[in-house]
Amino acid sequence: MDKEEIISLLKQINYPGYNRDIVSFGIIKKLSLTGTKLSLQLNLQADSEIIDNIQNSIHKILKKEFHNLEIIIDIVSPNKSNNIIGDIKTLSKVNNIIAIASGKGGVGKSTTTINLAAALSKKLKIGILDLDIYGPSLPMALGCLEKPVMNSNNLLTPIEKHDMKLMSFGFLNDEDAPTIWRGPMVSRMTEQFFAQVDWGELDILFLDLPPGTGDIQLTLVQKIALSGALIITTPQDLALLDVKKASDMFSKLNTPILGVVENMSNLHLKGQVYHENGSLIDGLIKIDNKDYKIKDGIFSIDLEIFKGKGGYNESNRLDVPLLSRIPIDSELALSTDQGTPYVYKHKNTYVTSCYDEIGSKIIQELGI
Ligand code: ADP
Repeated sequence: MDKEEIISLLKQINYPGYNRDIVSFGIIKKLSLTGTKLSLQLNLQADSEIIDNIQNSIHKILKKEFHNLEIIIDIVSPNKSNNIIGDIKTLSKVNNIIAIASGKGGVGKSTTTINLAAALSKKLKIGILDLDIYGPSLPMALGCLEKPVMNSNNLLTPIEKHDMKLMSFGFLNDEDAPTIWRGPMVSRMTEQFFAQVDWGELDILFLDLPPGTGDIQLTLVQKIALSGALIITTPQDLALLDVKKASDMFSKLNTPILGVVENMSNLHLKGQVYHENGSLIDGLIKIDNKDYKIKDGIFSIDLEIFKGKGGYNESNRLDVPLLSRIPIDSELALSTDQGTPYVYKHKNTYVTSCYDEIGSKIIQELGI
């Protein structure tokens, strides 16, 4: 019996509810084998049911192959242990940190972050850190004009708005900004955003990352114990090349990818057609060679404007769930311009239900 044999057996165990195995999920943190004694350290943040389930599967599969193997399993939670290391004490009460990433700019990463965070803030303590130094969108999208102030511990107090704690390069990036924030090293600035902001107690801190796989992303994954990453893409296949790079970076560094969100997936058209004399039309509308029914004048059409299947393909490739397909909705763009999250203004719409659904799935995955 050797380590490779054990790892290949562990690869047969899927994370409960997923098609992805616990090894590729980055759960096996340490593995040492001395004689017939195997010590496993599992990097696992989940509820007790999932932990028991995984432990039982490990015992079962290994014992079947190696009867006299003695197995010792130690479970560590990535958040609580790691984030205090490296002096990031300001994160000690932040239970989960989720990075929202995309390959390209303009795919709706910030829009998704803000509305998902706002949807969850009804039940949980939520923070958003906008790390997009080149195009911080949080101040405008949430209508924040205030400047964060230093408290007596020399820490910046996040802005509180819409029941969320907020911090952005955009709050500080002007003449009044302390020079510390304008240092030449982007990665240093990123670290300071964690270590010098008084985040307090949070269930989830969302990180709105700049697009791509640059310095900020690398700093993050090295220094911060992320609970996971969410990948945002649009349906076009072209966007996918960049998305793949971004998601592969997280996978290689053992950051679990919680799922993929496809934004601007389609355009939902709903309305009524009738004759000039007012009588309602029954029949069919042909669009792009596809027939759509009209009944009592009413039509309801989902137009796939972009022909790719970006979200579907990427979630399949990564073996993670496609958490939602959010349609194009001009109200979403409008609410960004007006400084209030869409989900606060539109309670019972399909788009709001998309964000609620992503939120519920994340809560479930994180075992909150
Ligand atoms: P990113 O953070 O990826 O650069 P943004 O969230 O800033 O992208 O979105 C880019 C633009 O697209 C913004 O003007 C935003 O309001 C708009 N937008 C994003 N998602 C949608 C959507 N589903 N429907 C309509 N407009 C959207």
